[in-house]
Amino acid sequence: MLIRSSKILIVDDEERIRSGLSAVLLQAGYEIACAANGRDATTLLSKKDFGLALLDINLPDVSGQQVLDFIRRRQIDTSVIMVSGESTFEQATAALRKGAADFIAKPYDPQKLLDTVSAVLKKRQRKKEYLKIQERLQGSEELHRFIVDNSPDLIFMLDDQGYFSFLNEKSRQFLGCQGEDFLGRHFSEIVLSQDFEKVSQAFRYLNRGGHQATRSMELRLRPRNGGEVRHVEVWAISVEMNSLGVYATQRDQGRPMVGIYGVARDISDRKQSEELRRYHLYHDQLTNLPNRALFTDRLQIALGQARRKKQQLAVMFLDIDRFKMINDSLGHLAGDELLQKVAQRLKESLREGDTLARISGDEFTLLAPDIGGVDAADIICRKIQSVFEQPFQLHGQTVRVTFSIGYAVYPHHGQTREMLLKNADLAMYRIKGKGRNGHCCFTEEMNRINSYHFDIENSLHRAIENNELRLFYQPQLDLSTHKVVGVEALVRWEHPVRGLLYPSEFIPVAEQTKLICSIGNWVLEQACRDAVRLAEAGYSDLKMAINVSAQQLELGHFDRDFLNILGKFPLDPTRLEIEITESNLMQDMDKSMRILTTLATHDVRIAVDDFGTGYSSLSYLQTLPIHTLKIDRSFVRNIVPGGEGQNTIITAILAIAKGLDLNFIAEGVETGVQDAYLREAGCLQAQGFHYSQPIGFNKLLAFLEHWNPQRNSTNSKISPIQSYSSSKS
Ligand code: C2E
Ligand code: MG
Ligand code: MG
Repeated sequence: MLIRSSKILIVDDEERIRSGLSAVLLQAGYEIACAANGRDATTLLSKKDFGLALLDINLPDVSGQQVLDFIRRRQIDTSVIMVSGESTFEQATAALRKGAADFIAKPYDPQKLLDTVSAVLKKRQRKKEYLKIQERLQGSEELHRFIVDNSPDLIFMLDDQGYFSFLNEKSRQFLGCQGEDFLGRHFSEIVLSQDFEKVSQAFRYLNRGGHQATRSMELRLRPRNGGEVRHVEVWAISVEMNSLGVYATQRDQGRPMVGIYGVARDISDRKQSEELRRYHLYHDQLTNLPNRALFTDRLQIALGQARRKKQQLAVMFLDIDRFKMINDSLGHLAGDELLQKVAQRLKESLREGDTLARISGDEFTLLAPDIGGVDAADIICRKIQSVFEQPFQLHGQTVRVTFSIGYAVYPHHGQTREMLLKNADLAMYRIKGKGRNGHCCFTEEMNRINSYHFDIENSLHRAIENNELRLFYQPQLDLSTHKVVGVEALVRWEHPVRGLLYPSEFIPVAEQTKLICSIGNWVLEQACRDAVRLAEAGYSDLKMAINVSAQQLELGHFDRDFLNILGKFPLDPTRLEIEITESNLMQDMDKSMRILTTLATHDVRIAVDDFGTGYSSLSYLQTLPIHTLKIDRSFVRNIVPGGEGQNTIITAILAIAKGLDLNFIAEGVETGVQDAYLREAGCLQAQGFHYSQPIGFNKLLAFLEHWNPQRNSTNSKISPIQSYSSSKS
């Protein structure tokens, strides 16, 4: 069809030949044009698009050969068949050499003519198609090369021995090489030695895995120009190189050669940010020390090693003593700076294999693997404490830092990291309890105390619900008349298993677990209820003293709760006195001030309990709304008969109280001598076993009924102690 649509130019000076050829070709369906001489022929050829020209060699003006030359010179896309009557062999070959497609001798056989024309046109058609394909192929190869070379990924090929057989432009840039200079080199030249085994394994797998086996992995490369190590993510597939047109070598005779095609991507930036994230995940930002997570991880590994090698290791808890106070007085910025310096000094005093971590504000942990034993751990503690003898200089201030250190040693004090950490922590708390600045090894006894603590904590939750709390009352007397002027409410816990428990056995746990607020509210409500009952029994003037912990002031809304409870009872608020210890008052001075002032404006009285054992600063006595000082029983215990000089503290405190116009109570009066001395010294009130132990409400009523102030004021040896001293009744 295409062939028939080709236009044919007939060039001959003889009219007869022209019409003869035209007739045959028209008959066969070709489109025809004619020229009678060479000049017309060249004009037509340059204007029109002829597929074929039948060209007579001998033309009158421009010869057939010259027309051929013209076609070639002008690169006219027309095939030529030379037609000649008396042509020589030389003429024909010359024409063919100049590009003619064929030669027909006159007179021609019409069928042969048609066959020749058709054959030339077909050939011409084939050539055109071939050229088109060639063109397309070339385009697509260029396209692929362009894609490969401009790919943001590194594209490469390895032969079956691991030598590079192709690298795209990006790979060359990445590896810092030019042109072909990396071809034929082995991949091991650029893989970081730590990753070499991983890559070799993958390579062996791909080689063995046959056609289309794939592997992806992350690895590190060492560029040849000595640049930074780069991370890449590689995806590789094994391919039959032959099928890709990659030349095989003699090596692979008999089997298709397998090579590896790979794509890699530079993920160094991602890795870097991942590493940074991981670093932050496992390090404390202030000191750059490992954090708790990394510490426990390292401890786990060290434990495994110690177990295998039968070694011992120490886990230590190091807590900076009174850091809160230092931090508050220096300011937080300086506090942070101090922590950094402390961390630095600690690190310098340790071995290289030790792990020091900061696990919270002022708490550090230390892992010392492969130590000689408990003694060695003790030596580490001493060393730490000695390097901290030297104070820090911080913004012109001298700051001394001491530690409470507790430690546990594997395998003696625990087999698991949890046990070791818990036990080291317990030992640290023991040192804190003992007055800080020291070190202490874990002992089993600590565990017993701790499990007691745990048990108490668990059952304390139910103590209020199950109505297991009791209030005992200890009478307070006016020393000059020996009349009962008040009672102090002291809480007890009737534990279903352990029996009657004293405050020292459960109040510290309650304080730690915040249960102290509900216990405090229960105490207050019960004390108010009993104060009302006392009034109903005729003792409406008795003062009711109630103990309060620092945690009650600190947590929740103590003043609001207190006034709410008080509001439920028909009670004169002046009958209530809150007892709070000096050190508790000082914990958060501003808050204490606010709460106590609110209560004082509602006419509730405030007493400082255990006075003389804490700061004993006079300034707070003047700023806080305080009504009573309760001198600690240790001073009363030390009263020496006739030893005036040794009793000066009591005298001094009495003078202060008088000077500030405060009520003064002595507690812990156990003997008549103490009673007499205090009375002489001008002490106003007292309480203690000498008069009565703390007793239950009914016993208190009986006590009040039978108490004879006269008899007891004159003969201090005779007291109702015997009848009211059963502390657990
Ligand atoms: P505190 O307020 O100083 O109470 C006086 C403590 O001394 C009481 O101990 C009392 O039984 C004891 N005591 C009284 N007279 C004598 C004596 O002549 N000799 C000796 N050696 N001791 C005497 P208790 O009842 O064991 O209470 C201990 C502490 O527990 C109290 O000390 C108080 O701080 C606290 N506490 C008691 N009840 C409560 C309460 O309801 N809430 C709070 N937050 N703390 C309470
Ligand atoms: Mg008290
Ligand atoms: Mg006291």
